[in-house]
Amino acid sequence: MELYKENQLKIYNSLNKSKEDFKPITEGYVGMYVCGPTVYSNAHLGNVRTFMFFDVVYRYLLHLGYKVRYVRNITDAGHLENDADEGEDRIAKKARLEEIEPMEVVQRYTVDFHNVLKNYNFLPPSIEPTATGHIVEQIEMIKEIIEKGFAYEVNGSVYFDVLAYNKSNHYGILSGRKVEDLIHNTRALDGQSDKKNPQDFALWKKAEERHIMRWPSPWSDGFPGWHLECSVMSTKYLGESFDIHGGGMDLKFPHHECEIAQSQTCSGVKPVNYWMHTNMLLLNSQKMAKSTGNFILPNEILSGKNNILPKAFSASVVRFFNMQANYRSILDFSGEALEASEKGHAKLMEAITFLDKIEADKASTFDVKKWKKACYDAMNDDFNTPILISHLFEAVKVINQIKEHKAGLTNADLEEFKTTINVFVFDILGLMNEATQDSSEKINGVVELLIKLRKEARENKDWALSDQIRDELIELGIQLKDGKEGTTFSVN
Ligand SMILES: [Zn+2]
Repeated sequence: MELYKENQLKIYNSLNKSKEDFKPITEGYVGMYVCGPTVYSNAHLGNVRTFMFFDVVYRYLLHLGYKVRYVRNITDAGHLENDADEGEDRIAKKARLEEIEPMEVVQRYTVDFHNVLKNYNFLPPSIEPTATGHIVEQIEMIKEIIEKGFAYEVNGSVYFDVLAYNKSNHYGILSGRKVEDLIHNTRALDGQSDKKNPQDFALWKKAEERHIMRWPSPWSDGFPGWHLECSVMSTKYLGESFDIHGGGMDLKFPHHECEIAQSQTCSGVKPVNYWMHTNMLLLNSQKMAKSTGNFILPNEILSGKNNILPKAFSASVVRFFNMQANYRSILDFSGEALEASEKGHAKLMEAITFLDKIEADKASTFDVKKWKKACYDAMNDDFNTPILISHLFEAVKVINQIKEHKAGLTNADLEEFKTTINVFVFDILGLMNEATQDSSEKINGVVELLIKLRKEARENKDWALSDQIRDELIELGIQLKDGKEGTTFSVN
């Protein structure tokens, strides 16, 4: 039986501001969309927090036996510098400043993003669509919104008519903002804007003369508004209504609010059942900002090349640190906090390494089933990773007691205990045991060295030494294979 049948997951739904039982639209299947990065600069640590949390959500849903389609987009056009649909396109601006093609900017930072995610042990999403790969679909959606009477064209640009939409729908349903307040609070744009009302937002923008990123459309040569791509791509790959939509809480307004308005206009149905938002990340109790120097890149944490942290930290320690906080709480990143996490992480991994040496006892002194249920209960309670980690430390305590012969587990209990720890630590939290990783890297290095020495021996026609290296490695369970491309090896 699939695990999801015995695990009722609860999700805090930002739409209703309450924890709700998770019921997917189609039993056994989950559609999840997470707003991805705008690839105009290096991956941001705050964003990495968000993606890391959804990586754990994805891993847990898979573990429960759901078939998950996880879509996380890449914004490679249309994201302007400010939310009022003004300013330069972020990617085009970077291209201008660095005197390179916009697509070079996109390529450079997409590669950086993937590199960071690989270093931090992320599972790739099922689909990673790009905005520029979906211009045709975006134009079609704009046409549909115009037909429904909720968008208008002015001077080659198309805007969503928020007031018209709000007559029969609820603009502000997610963010709690009121349209009337938005009118009063929005700064007058000094007549620069073509918008009928300041709270309207762009679906299509006519490109200015010098704007390089442009596509033909019925209205002008231009580019789509940023909010549109997520409506288009989520609908295309997950359907008009899907289960989970995630992102950082800074995206709630206007981005997600606009997404709801666009999608709801076209389909007439509620686009998303569960909205999930991660809280922000602080660095040394302050907002991260390049301009103030209070800034660090995810890869700089791993290399130690930065002025913020006292030393380098491993990816697994950073993951562990992230998971020690609830995703809906503010996370304060600092050297001291990371050092504390590093100690906890080492204790956990040390205990796990010892697990294999434990021998079964006649009787169990620890209730493994009860403990295992508590681990699942923590994750079922809106992915409460800090509580899960506290249960994992209970397991560490038991392992240490067993080490000192003060506790014991029967064979069956021991097997269940081992499997559960491994599942939660490695499969679900995505942590890595660097101790075993390090030693396997070292073994690889040593074997490569022996292959090199054997090659030299053969070149010197020292067949005795060459055979000795090969045969003694075989005895250790390492098989050398000579091929056209050189010698490779496999470990049995
Ligand atoms: Zn989005």
